[in-house]
Amino acid sequence: EKLFSGFSKTRNNLSVIDELLLYWNLSDTDKVLDELEEALLVSDFGPKITIKIVENLREDILSGKLKSGSEIKEALKKNVLDLLSNKGSKTELQLGYRKPAVIMIVGVNGGGKTTSLGKLAYRLKNGGAKILLAAGDTFRAAASDQLEIWAERTGCEIVVAESEKSKASAVLSQAVKRRKRARLYISIGVHVIFSGLHTNYRLMEELISCKKAVAKVVAGAPNEILLVLDGTTGLNMLPQAREFNEVVGVTGLILTKLDGSARGGCVVSVVDELGIPVKFVGVGEGVEDLQPFDAEAFVNAIFL
Ligand code: GDP
Repeated sequence: EKLFSGFSKTRNNLSVIDELLLYWNLSDTDKVLDELEEALLVSDFGPKITIKIVENLREDILSGKLKSGSEIKEALKKNVLDLLSNKGSKTELQLGYRKPAVIMIVGVNGGGKTTSLGKLAYRLKNGGAKILLAAGDTFRAAASDQLEIWAERTGCEIVVAESEKSKASAVLSQAVKRRKRARLYISIGVHVIFSGLHTNYRLMEELISCKKAVAKVVAGAPNEILLVLDGTTGLNMLPQAREFNEVVGVTGLILTKLDGSARGGCVVSVVDELGIPVKFVGVGEGVEDLQPFDAEAFVNAIFL
């Protein structure tokens, strides 16, 4: 429901083709596809993916495979669903068998990392995991305090920086070591923040150090590096995702704020271009407002 209402604007943009499809006949094809192209672009699908979808449909219409407006609409939805499903890539967390399992949460300022980390911890804890949160955001003064509130709210342990000068990688390393000694079945949420992505190389280096610090303690960790993307930023999320992926190798996406005025199309572009699956979506600020990504629900939320 929240996803559906969050995408009302995208749905509205895309609904302009519905009437055209209702009365569609072959001679209308160019007009309908032009309108569709426009609607997809306005909905932040981005030029590359828009052309791909429109040309796929054109081919199927001209070859006689699609014979009615409703068949075209269904094919459109299926196209988007296939692109989102990304050749069957795994949308579930891959935590492996080694303990502790480590999840790094990365992304730019204000995207929703802390909130997503809290919600994810709550979710995993309910599934029986023992969670240790590590406040790796040593750059933003209030970040640790904010995460401590989440630790309290979710009843999870937390490791914070020993001093203001501590590096993120030191906090992460300390957290993983603590868990390793305890030999418990755990997932550790590691919270790393990066602001000013394009200009701050020091932070990029720190991100790499974080990854190395964790791997040094537990071979094969981090199991997941989840990039948090703000669903309201539209196509701006694409260069961001590209850059984070180049630097650390992202294994999954968390799309946040999909309950607000989310701009849906760009999600398809990110998944298609980077080949990284969306693993969770954020649909609010409460502990239970993180859902596993469901491509079908997503498609049904953006198309009428
Ligand atoms: P960070 O700087 O990346 O750690 O971002 P925060 O977790 O502090 O989130 C920034 C703001 O976005 C906060 O006010 C959050 O409550 C809000 N926020 C995060 N995720 C969601 C979401 O899924 N839906 C809504 N409506 N707000 C969210």
